Amino acid sequence: MPAKTSKRIPARELLFGNLWEFDPAPETAAPHIDSRYQLFINGKFTAPKSKKYFDSISPRNEEKLAEIALASDADVHAAYSAAAAAFPSWSKLSGAERGKYLYRIARLLQDRAREFAVAETLDGGKPIKESRDFDVPMAAAHFFYHAGWADKLSYAAPGRTLAPLGVVGQIIPWNFPLLMLAWKLAPALACGNTVVLKPAESTSITCMKFASILIDAGLPPGVVNFVTGAGETGAAVVNHPLAKKIAFTGSTGVGKSIQRALAGTDKRLTLELGGKAANIVFDDAPLDQAVEGIVNGIFFNQGHVCCAGSRLLVQESIASAVMSKLKMRLRSLRVGDPLDKNTDIGAINSKRQLEKIRELVQSGVDEGAQCYQPDCTLPAKGFYFPPTLFSGVSLSQRIAREEIFGPVLSILTFRTPEEAVEKANNTPYGLSAGVWTDKGSRILQMSTELKAGVVWANTYNKFDPTSPFGGFKESGFGREGGKQGLLEYAELI
Ligand code: ADP
Repeated sequence: MPAKTSKRIPARELLFGNLWEFDPAPETAAPHIDSRYQLFINGKFTAPKSKKYFDSISPRNEEKLAEIALASDADVHAAYSAAAAAFPSWSKLSGAERGKYLYRIARLLQDRAREFAVAETLDGGKPIKESRDFDVPMAAAHFFYHAGWADKLSYAAPGRTLAPLGVVGQIIPWNFPLLMLAWKLAPALACGNTVVLKPAESTSITCMKFASILIDAGLPPGVVNFVTGAGETGAAVVNHPLAKKIAFTGSTGVGKSIQRALAGTDKRLTLELGGKAANIVFDDAPLDQAVEGIVNGIFFNQGHVCCAGSRLLVQESIASAVMSKLKMRLRSLRVGDPLDKNTDIGAINSKRQLEKIRELVQSGVDEGAQCYQPDCTLPAKGFYFPPTLFSGVSLSQRIAREEIFGPVLSILTFRTPEEAVEKANNTPYGLSAGVWTDKGSRILQMSTELKAGVVWANTYNKFDPTSPFGGFKESGFGREGGKQGLLEYAELI
């Protein structure tokens, strides 16, 4: 006869609940992080003219990882000058030759995949299983994919010729540092442009390590230049007169200021900004799969994902069943050391971001939504936040409108497909959405009516270099990935 307590505990809970604990399984590969990183200009590591450096700390334990050069306007100018000098010969290389460099870069990154995964996790706080299985392989995949395009540009727009734009300025965020670098660099280089790129100030390390891959690949000096620093350095990249195009991924606020700064200039602009995606679950959906999709949609990368499924719209008739399955699943998520191979939710990227999440969660409580957090012990040092569900959320509340960019899910209900569409589109954003249903016709209808650049059906957060990604409304404009993303880096003549 089973013990009295085991009768009351569901089998899943017995398997995955607090009753079982894994031993720590830290990843041990060496990340090879230097104590100080200079700028990467004209193929060389160069001390900043500002002579200033800032600390990069690990959100995992708040320990200093490295000092990063702070690029001044003069440094940004040097980077643009190097890129402009490299442009004539790089753009005149045959596509096949440029493709060889991209293939080489992709293979070198694969060779050093483990080292880069550990560095990415230490620098940004994401679980090692994500940097190992997603960020690094996907970054390599983008270089492979665009290497394939480099000698086939004439097929991208039949009857037209693709000409490179010139020097492009690129600014990337801290949530997928290496992957965003790959998204930006690979199509720009395939089309024959040269680049000045700025990583986010809290996550510059894998970008600067990547410079060593460019050197090993023999990339001609000046084709790619990295300048590090915060908003002021970013503004210098945006405003430099040699830039023919700016590609920015980051917050909507900064995106708007860049758009204002470029108004009236002939610079091209693509913006990939924030999101507040609806993940919509109908009553005919396979619920256990949907719950996995909801969890992946919001807790992947601690919710630091612009296309995160941060609003769950669940059909009223199944709301309580979904809620109880979700709560049970949350209790099995492992929050903690991102270097541990069993960790599901790692560290929040920075103290500033942690404070923003806390503030928005408090607003949800104050505005009357019901908050659920599983019992979990967070590490004493570092920046951590437990997975959080809010039920009883209404559209007017801040947690339903503002991008939290953390592991926080706001749950709303609907009765009819029309109401689901109405609520899903009731946001200034339009980056992504998810639909869970058994009916193919409903998937087609919803994906037509949802104002979102990407609509996933019975899955979430699936990415591929061949798929264009980008937003509507305040989520920005322009596409990255696929042929559409490639064409953003070329002039059609
Ligand atoms: P977050 O608020 O989440 O940190 P940001 O949009 O501020 O997102 O950051 C994204 C990227 O934009 C980072 O590389 C950051 O340094 C850069 N950035 C911040 N302010 C500016 C600015 N005014 N002009 C250009 N780039 C900026």
